[in-house]
Amino acid sequence: MSRLDRIRRLVAGLDADALLVTFLPDVRWAVGFTGSNGVLVVTRDAAHFVTDGRYAVQARQEVAEAEVHVPGYRLFEHVAEEGLLGDAEAVLVQADHLTVADLERLRLLLPDVKVQPVADLLVEEVAAKSEPEIDAIRAAQAVTDAVFEEILPYVQPGMSELDLAAEIVYQHLKRGCERMAFEPIVASGARAALPHARPTSRTIRPGELVLIDMGGVRDGYASDMTRTVAVGEPDPEARTVYGVVLDAQQAALDVLAAGKTGREIDQAARAVIAAAGYGEAFAHSLGHGIGLQTHEWPRLSSRVEDVLPAGAAVTIEPGVYLPDRFGVRIEDLAVVREGGHENLTASPKTLLVL
Ligand code: ZN
Ligand code: ZN
Repeated sequence: MSRLDRIRRLVAGLDADALLVTFLPDVRWAVGFTGSNGVLVVTRDAAHFVTDGRYAVQARQEVAEAEVHVPGYRLFEHVAEEGLLGDAEAVLVQADHLTVADLERLRLLLPDVKVQPVADLLVEEVAAKSEPEIDAIRAAQAVTDAVFEEILPYVQPGMSELDLAAEIVYQHLKRGCERMAFEPIVASGARAALPHARPTSRTIRPGELVLIDMGGVRDGYASDMTRTVAVGEPDPEARTVYGVVLDAQQAALDVLAAGKTGREIDQAARAVIAAAGYGEAFAHSLGHGIGLQTHEWPRLSSRVEDVLPAGAAVTIEPGVYLPDRFGVRIEDLAVVREGGHENLTASPKTLLVL
């Protein structure tokens, strides 16, 4: 079934006639448009893509399954004035990707239509990746693995976190990523105890752990990996914690499979860390879906009962953070399969002492 038909099935299931797709990663998923402005209108028997003049050529090259419109004025006005919704009486909009102002404007423009916000309508469809999508994620992760190997010689005393972050960005772009999936995290010493530390001018010192979390985007799809390495022999407890986090990640990977809930996977890792006495020091969820967005549905968290579909790409990233001392996180990217998973991350996970 085509992606537009999958959308139509979801819309019909909610007793509506049409959907306005305003979230650009979903537009890209549905019809392939890669630009930065546009609205996709999907009705029972038609599809229209409305964008602005900057994308007149690109939209016609990329979008085959919807009729392309390039109005000289605002996109929603064009949808209303050209009657692109046909005879639709109930139209769904993406509650999590439409401003309140735009919702009010739509309701003014479409007085005879019931405009109904709905959240998370497409997340499950988007999460269950096709093999070409998984290939794109695999290619992005291969770049990140290569970058990790390339930068290891630079992880040395005297190197600053920012120097390392600059090298990480440069190497991703040089190796074919169109942009970073997120700003790289390079956190040394006690700064690694901050799970989302930004790189600073602080220089790495002997005996410290350095936490590196990075990912690039290639052909639209993101990678994401964390490795924690030691620069010289670390504190004995750092070695212990490293082993605990690695065991926790393996426990989660061992149970990762289609049909499991995010909570079950999270719990497998959390139990290992709690049993080692570090339960309080693992204060974030285990992982997240990844694809056209770096963070997407499903979340792997103790509070989430969502069931993982086959084809979902997810990260498994347990961590232990001891304030003012050090932090350890190990993150792999894996594809959920029937009966198991496929790990797309190739970088070594034994503690590297550089
Ligand atoms: Zn990450
Ligand atoms: Zn992540």
